[in-house]
Amino acid sequence: MMSLTLMAICSGTFAQNINRMELGDYERVKDRKVYHLPEIPGFVTLTADLHMHTVFSDGVVWPDFRVQEAWVEGLDVIALTDHIEVLPHKENIKGDHNTSVESASRVAEMLNIILIKGTEITHGMPPGHFNALFIKDANLLDNDDPMEQIKEAAAQGGFIFWNHPGWASQQPDTTLWWDAHTTLLEKGWLHGVEVANQHDWYPVALDWCKGKKLTVIANSDVHEPVNSTYDLSVPGSHRPMTLVFAKDRTAEGVKEALFSRRTLGFSGTQIMGSEELIHQVFYASVEVRESYYALERGGRKTLFREVVNPTDLTFILEKDGEGQMDQRIELHPHSIAVIRHGEGVELRYRLENCWSGSSEHPLVILK
Ligand SMILES: [Zn+2]
Ligand SMILES: [Zn+2]
Repeated sequence: MMSLTLMAICSGTFAQNINRMELGDYERVKDRKVYHLPEIPGFVTLTADLHMHTVFSDGVVWPDFRVQEAWVEGLDVIALTDHIEVLPHKENIKGDHNTSVESASRVAEMLNIILIKGTEITHGMPPGHFNALFIKDANLLDNDDPMEQIKEAAAQGGFIFWNHPGWASQQPDTTLWWDAHTTLLEKGWLHGVEVANQHDWYPVALDWCKGKKLTVIANSDVHEPVNSTYDLSVPGSHRPMTLVFAKDRTAEGVKEALFSRRTLGFSGTQIMGSEELIHQVFYASVEVRESYYALERGGRKTLFREVVNPTDLTFILEKDGEGQMDQRIELHPHSIAVIRHGEGVELRYRLENCWSGSSEHPLVILK
């Protein structure tokens, strides 16, 4: 739930008053959500939303507000990615393509949010929309040729990903990979793809990530306040995000992790990414306890044991094999499920809410 302080300052007068706000206005922001996410050896797990808009393109909120709501929601990393080409407020909002991020940098420092400079390159299909992160000067991307824009972003050391590849407005009923994307990939100018954007997700994009060695990305692409799109008062409700496994909690750490493809998509209860990372996350999350009870019936023993999930992730297990009494086990966040099984049985399950390909669910063994 958003704090009262935040609700008050996101009212209609917020934008007009921003220049008169003192440091104390941010010190009163409170009630940050604490995420309980597993850590995998050698890395910190960071929550990131790498795609969102402000009044500096077609969003309706001020850049500082993006930082504040991210803080309340427990995010570690955000990228402000206002469009180069879509500027409906330009008569009223002064500045250039860098102003959005630069104006939010102070509050980001104060709230310990890693703020990444980004922009959205916005064209019809092909090639569609792209986000360029970690760029130095978004103004140098302001021209009409998408290939020239992406080339410039790459020359600035940018991390570039294809946004919402299955967006119905651009690719009705399908999610196609075009020759233009092959060209970008071959030039080394395409590093990731959104497998999830807002309420959509594109299973085939996960196959592209696997086959073409692209980073898995999931984002909100939010234009309004987040809590007008996602009901944050509902437990577990959250904007789509990218889980980043970084060497440290710095912008450089995030950049290295993105280029190294150490990410998972997290949207609703779905988790998307490589089988290896999903395995690491699952085994770091879940504790299987010793059996505590044995039911004897007809000469056969059924053992009862607890499976503990102290994280904010959900795992839906469907049995894969014989000897488990329960077809489906739902391991909800911060909860314990009881499983029943025969003696000496290997406890194999498919993670139905985790996706390592468009039709692949990683297999796990409870030990
Ligand atoms: Zn877009
Ligand atoms: Zn966008």
